[in-house]
Amino acid sequence: MTRKRKDKNTTVLLFRDIIKETLSPPPDLTVSEWADAYRKLSSESSAEPGQWRTDRAPYQREIMDAVNDPEVEKIVIMSSAQVGKTELILNTLGYHIDFDPAPIMIMQPTVALAQSFSKERLAPAIKHKVADAKSRDSGNTTLNKSFPGGYVALVGANAPSGLASRPIRILLADEIDRFPVSAGTEGDPLALAEKRTNNFYKRKKIFVSTPTIKGASRIEVEYELSTKERWSLACPSCSEYQPLIWEQVVFASESVACKYCGAIHNEYEWKARGIFNENL
Ligand SMILES: [Zn+2]
Repeated sequence: MTRKRKDKNTTVLLFRDIIKETLSPPPDLTVSEWADAYRKLSSESSAEPGQWRTDRAPYQREIMDAVNDPEVEKIVIMSSAQVGKTELILNTLGYHIDFDPAPIMIMQPTVALAQSFSKERLAPAIKHKVADAKSRDSGNTTLNKSFPGGYVALVGANAPSGLASRPIRILLADEIDRFPVSAGTEGDPLALAEKRTNNFYKRKKIFVSTPTIKGASRIEVEYELSTKERWSLACPSCSEYQPLIWEQVVFASESVACKYCGAIHNEYEWKARGIFNENL
């Protein structure tokens, strides 16, 4: 009798939690605002530990906040190395753990890379958010971390087993140009992972990579299918926004020529006018 009542209470409680979770309004913060408030860079993984500041890399703001845009399902980031792509992934993850828990998958080219990513980058970033994998009964391993309301699974694109099981709402695929053509004999690993998001209305897919070989690049294909937004600056003379490209650099004076009016300004002058992101 007692036991029966207890079971009933548990059911009611769980049900109440589910309703609360489903009906609670979305948080007011965007991913970049979350990062500016809560993201701490650890000395283990950052040359400049301490509070994250989006202003230090303002080109990341629009990208991060696209995660909060209900109109956006896929975010494609094609960029050179060392511009903070990993931080974009970690900020998106941190935001979801704190404010919008979901089943999340982080995909790396191989299982070995997924393991080192987990230990070297993920663990320091979410240290106080998930139970330590080393502690007994935490339910967490290097490749599986749970947190209230969700979990993050780390998988390698070379291992079909990791791609075949649970549904996921947030897919974070890193260095997709290094993904194999097929995961074992199962087919395109990225397509397999995407399929797992199908049941979620609020799904997000974030594809990140440095482009490799022109014509055989996954990220290039995704970029071509995207809105192709590029980081742009306004000319200090004529105010036309433009992404600065190599051909505009004037080496003799270490400055950049405007592609519209030809005026030549140095880096400080270009950046002083502020920033914008638009289709060009
Ligand atoms: Zn100009």
